[in-house]
Amino acid sequence: ISKTRDERPIVLPPHTSESAFETALRELRELLGEEWVKCNDVALVDGDYHAVPLSHDAYHILEQDDLVPSAVCWPKDTEQVATVVKWANRHKIPIWPISIGRNLGYGGSAPRVRGSVVVDLGRRMNRVLDVSEQNAACLVEPGVQYITLYEHLQEIGLGNKLWIDVPDLPGGSVMGNALDRGVGYTPHGDHWSQHCGLEVVLPDGDIVRTGMGALPGTDCWQLFPYGFGPYHDGIFSQSNYGIVTKMGVWLMPNPGGIRPFMATFPREEDLAAAVDALRPLMVQKIVGNVPCLRLGVQDATMYHKKTEFPLRENGLIDRKKAQTMIDKLGTGAWVFYGALYGPDEITAPKFDYIKKALSVVSGAKFYERKDVPSNHYLNDYAKFTAGIPTWRELDRMQFIPNASHLFFAPISAIDGKDALRQSHMCRNRMEEYGFDYLGTFFIGHRAMHHVISFMYDKTDPEMKKRALSCIRALIEDAAKIGVGEYRTHLALQDQVAGTYNWGDGATMRLNEKLKDALDPNGILQPGRSGIWPKRYRGQGWEL
Ligand code: ADP
Repeated sequence: ISKTRDERPIVLPPHTSESAFETALRELRELLGEEWVKCNDVALVDGDYHAVPLSHDAYHILEQDDLVPSAVCWPKDTEQVATVVKWANRHKIPIWPISIGRNLGYGGSAPRVRGSVVVDLGRRMNRVLDVSEQNAACLVEPGVQYITLYEHLQEIGLGNKLWIDVPDLPGGSVMGNALDRGVGYTPHGDHWSQHCGLEVVLPDGDIVRTGMGALPGTDCWQLFPYGFGPYHDGIFSQSNYGIVTKMGVWLMPNPGGIRPFMATFPREEDLAAAVDALRPLMVQKIVGNVPCLRLGVQDATMYHKKTEFPLRENGLIDRKKAQTMIDKLGTGAWVFYGALYGPDEITAPKFDYIKKALSVVSGAKFYERKDVPSNHYLNDYAKFTAGIPTWRELDRMQFIPNASHLFFAPISAIDGKDALRQSHMCRNRMEEYGFDYLGTFFIGHRAMHHVISFMYDKTDPEMKKRALSCIRALIEDAAKIGVGEYRTHLALQDQVAGTYNWGDGATMRLNEKLKDALDPNGILQPGRSGIWPKRYRGQGWEL
């Protein structure tokens, strides 16, 4: 089994001989069925958004064949997931569960430890198990994508009554995204906060249901998140403490109307005043969704390739000259997209109130759908905010050839000075390393996700190295001023975890105590979020 059809050697799990691996895989095939276990012996093809590989990270930032599994398996239900977990314990082989495996810009389907076995939950566990119309809640398996949940609601005749929240692209898993604490656009845009109840396979194969799910015969598993006693759900997000096989999700009842709108601010320095004007609107929930404030240049990447922008000698976009082009799109130096929910009688006066509040920024302009051409992003934004899937974000991939994304995503207070400081810090570092700063602030009720897209050509090894070094420098810069990231690529999780080090690393000590107690053999996702099991610790696995 050591050579493939194209002579690519199969990667073995750590500390596992070829013959031990062969025996283990034979046993796994007996447990799951021959066709549900495959060696990772395929050629590494990056594919595209619609065809993401399970063989490696399609947006590789390290070598293409660095973060690769030894095999992939497809359990059919929770019991089989527990079977796989027990198998992994017997053979001390690391496993890496994925729901769909898109997770683009953060590692895709790839495991952190080379040679892990990927457990693809989504292929066979992809049902919407329950939808409660009256409670606006549902129960999903890992393979339910935003698009399939949307279609399911349409099919059962509830599409107009119950809305979902979609992130940028609808092909990801509803569960996977919530577990990684992704964000969307509606009032339910903080996905983790809208889940209710989990079913989890623990690293020893035990199966638990959280919250009310622990009570046999309950009707409230998807209604009341806490149950009785300690609230465990938090330890299963961005962690390696369990494999989630069912998750409750709250849906949004049709609010009776929606008013998506856009506000533009003419100068880059307007960021500070705009953010300060937005804070009370967010804290008081006058704007009730997760709106965003996007750099005009980034907005323009939706419509234009990089070669169409005026460039400076160093190859970066000339922002001053680009302003003419951006003005043509009517989006200003910064553009705010928001949505108001409810019938017109409610949203019209709210919109007037918001216009007045944001007009403290001189030159601010406001637009609704009726004011923009049909290809304008505001029309797609209108779909996002009504939970209707769109593929428009894929347009950004035309920006450069072989475009790949990597995200630098620090959290900011909703504070003008903070936002401006972060924005300058990121721009300066990125330009030093030869990247255009393309940032968006996703605004919550108390804080913002400042999501910065690093676009790089994945066929250019030098550019990949530069992107990685630049993000590493940014993580360090940010930590120095008390700024931390909410999520990061696999290759950077050790570094980010290292910055959350209050109390001489108290958080990681707690993480490790939990890891050692729940997963003594260290089989589940070693290294995820920088948490290494005992048998891997201090042996040079950290990146
Ligand atoms: P996407 O929804 O983008 O396709 P993935 O399925 O790739 O997301 O999952 C994102 C991250 O969350 C991965 O690191 C993966 O290991 C973890 N994850 C996904 N689903 C589960 C699950 N059901 N249980 C535990 N971890 C999961």
